[in-house]
Amino acid sequence: MGKAVGSERLGSFYTNGKVRKRREWRGVKDTFYDYTRWLHIMGILSKFIVKPRNIKAFFRYRWMGNYLAAPMMVDRHTQGLRGPQLRIAHTEFDLVMEDIAKLLDNLFRGDRKIGNDKEFSKKVVLMDENEMTAVMMGFPNLKGLSRETPSVYVSVLLNQYAVCHYLDVAQEFGLSGDVCPMPAAEVGVSIEDDFPVLGACAIQCNTTCDGSLMGNGVISKRLELEDGVPCFQLAAPLRHREEDVQEYAAQEIRNAIQFIEEHTGETWDWDYYFECAKRVNESTRHRMEWLEMNKTDYPQVFGSNLALYTETNYMAICGKVPEFVDADRKISAIAERAYRKKTMVVKEYRHRAIIWGVQSHFYFDFLIWLQNCWGILPLTDMLSMVSTKMLSEDDREQAIYDMAWLTENMIMRNRTHGGYKVLLDELWEFCEEFRADTVILWEHISCKALDGMHGQFEEKARERGIHLIWVDHDLFDPRIISRQEIRDQVNRYMRTVFREEPIDPTLEVISDEHSW
Ligand code: SF4
Repeated sequence: MGKAVGSERLGSFYTNGKVRKRREWRGVKDTFYDYTRWLHIMGILSKFIVKPRNIKAFFRYRWMGNYLAAPMMVDRHTQGLRGPQLRIAHTEFDLVMEDIAKLLDNLFRGDRKIGNDKEFSKKVVLMDENEMTAVMMGFPNLKGLSRETPSVYVSVLLNQYAVCHYLDVAQEFGLSGDVCPMPAAEVGVSIEDDFPVLGACAIQCNTTCDGSLMGNGVISKRLELEDGVPCFQLAAPLRHREEDVQEYAAQEIRNAIQFIEEHTGETWDWDYYFECAKRVNESTRHRMEWLEMNKTDYPQVFGSNLALYTETNYMAICGKVPEFVDADRKISAIAERAYRKKTMVVKEYRHRAIIWGVQSHFYFDFLIWLQNCWGILPLTDMLSMVSTKMLSEDDREQAIYDMAWLTENMIMRNRTHGGYKVLLDELWEFCEEFRADTVILWEHISCKALDGMHGQFEEKARERGIHLIWVDHDLFDPRIISRQEIRDQVNRYMRTVFREEPIDPTLEVISDEHSW
């Protein structure tokens, strides 16, 4: 019990209930720092809740109750961290929390059922959850707000059971049970009338797959016919690496921008766009630096610290919030110092792994568990291997293609669509670059795009002598595959194939079935 990494038996804190027995002791300096960040989160929550309209929202929307678990979520994703990694994690979580609080506040301000600020609502463009918000990079006076992000996507990060009710609602309405829980939950929220209603118009995108197209169909019907919010369907091409689809993709961007201009009365501002593009480029440069570090023996920004932040920074932010670039700089500075000192994140590094599959942190702190329990380093994950391309900072025609590129390469679809090269072949290239001996194939059982290649993943891994650990999960639905059932799949492989004992045996089986 102390300041050294690995000095706490992390599994011994778990009870059978919602919260753990006690907070982690990380030595005086780190415990005090962690406590100040806990206070900061409580500050964000208090500031949010003192507004009467936000209290009203707590009673109006079932999913708002999940936000009471926000401090617990941060604790989950900082387990075992010390020194630089703890600071990197909190730098990211502070910012993500503040951004979500702002998003909720804006949604309820314009929401016809809560704040009903009509003038504000006219300046809002609703964006899909899983959409790169690139088409908003030239509208400084508009707010691109996602309703799905706080109700579904963040809710499951906070509480593993957060969207089970909405999945049931969607199925009671006739949706088949094998649809991906991501679009299914969004549909359930819409059917139950649990989305805030606001906005001058909405941009939906065929971001991921047939599941998301189905979801958009149901949601847009309600938006257009009941709420009077016109929707634009941004249909990005699926084979996004092919040259001959790029002109079509660019035209979709032009059409989306024109649609927003028509419905809001605003005009596209190129100066603002290029300002945002410069920030996206800077974020990309930082992320590439972190990935380069992760290829060495002393990775510094990886696992939970890479995945959650990258998704937010690219999808929701897309250069529009300068504070994210400030955070990128701070993270790079901390990571470089730690790298020079050869800082270890856990006491023993046993395996270098690539995590392949869609979001592994939904309802689960899987990445941090891998490193703490088994010394498996999650060096990078599928969704963090997003665009590495530099956007033009002055050419307007190229900029349209860059926005199309970002939209086509949103973090899930850039791998689940685009053919075998992006889903299968590039994985082995990354294994080589990162010197990974293991791939954790985080197989979402409802994602046909991913599961279709099951046999081919096995064939190639065997050829290359890479350990392939299949980990089945159902993304948002822990009733189908629980957290412990997920952990057991890794435990089995580690014991039977690698014949290893865990670094922290208390983490091998944890009673977190009922916890948030
Ligand atoms: S996880 Fe798979 S099935 Fe679900 S939205 Fe993404 S691509 Fe579609």
